[in-house]
Amino acid sequence: TGKMHGRNEILGYHDEMREMIEKQENLAMYLRSAVDQEELFLQYQPIVNISSGETVGVEALVRWQHPILGRVSPLDFIPLAEKTGLIHSIGNWVLKQGCQDILALGQPDLQLSINASAVQLEEQNFIESVMDILHETRFDPRRLKIEITESALMSDIQGVTDKLQQLRDAGIEISIDDFGTGYSSLHYLKKFPLDTLKVDKSFMDEIVATEGDSTIAKAIIDLGRNLGLNVIAEGVETAEQVAFLREQDCHFVQGYYFSKPLDFPVLEVFLAGKRLSV
Ligand code: C2E
Ligand code: MG
Ligand code: MG
Ligand code: MG
Repeated sequence: TGKMHGRNEILGYHDEMREMIEKQENLAMYLRSAVDQEELFLQYQPIVNISSGETVGVEALVRWQHPILGRVSPLDFIPLAEKTGLIHSIGNWVLKQGCQDILALGQPDLQLSINASAVQLEEQNFIESVMDILHETRFDPRRLKIEITESALMSDIQGVTDKLQQLRDAGIEISIDDFGTGYSSLHYLKKFPLDTLKVDKSFMDEIVATEGDSTIAKAIIDLGRNLGLNVIAEGVETAEQVAFLREQDCHFVQGYYFSKPLDFPVLEVFLAGKRLSV
């Protein structure tokens, strides 16, 4: 809707367009200094073994707290970071901080999951940067999982396959994130070197008390298991969903039902507690 400027509506529309573009440019400008100004931080969400209740790993999720803008969601600034190329420095920062934090916990069996966007994967030096950071922090590659979305897999299939294979050769595990939401080709699912399939939250939303449509959720969990992959259900919020997932033999779960993403000091406290009863 155009604003009332006492002019015609078309001008109002253009004003809004310009405002929007300026807003994006300002946001990009602020984002540019976010890493240096130490405005980014990580939260960690536990990934839980459904049968033992044990936290087997954590997913690092980046947060941006700007002094004036306040908290900006990754859903808003990650796409901007991708467009501006800032994703590379942000991604490196996330990986390094994540490795340092998780090492500081002193729990050698705990895995760290990191999100990587398609733009990062396409970068020439991506593998090298990852290996450099692992080396520098002395983080065991076998404890690292990289989460990528289906859209990342769809770009340059051979190129991506090669890169994923290189990561796996180094001991890093690959998860496919938000599975079922993108242009999933089941064919490629078999071809790509993957370890874990993360079932998107939208399928959890279908598993409701009303015996809603859980057909697809079931099929995806089965598919993952039949392909020999670990299956993690994302966005698990209710006891009903947990019961369903246990029935389906889904190995791992992640969601508000178990824990929200936690600030690092809170994660330490969380992990010091006993196993969750699930
Ligand atoms: P994602 O990787 O699929 O992460 C899961 C998102 O679901 C997170 O949102 C998490 O807070 C949220 N979530 C977890 N459990 C529940 C639940 O039970 N209910 C609901 N409603 N939500 C739940 P968040 O932190 O806002 O992140 C959004 C997306 O931003 C992530 O989706 C990921 O794609 C991207 N992202 C976050 N951190 C990074 C990063 O360091 N690098 C890159 N490239 N992308 C990131
Ligand atoms: Mg993820
Ligand atoms: Mg996800
Ligand atoms: Mg998601």
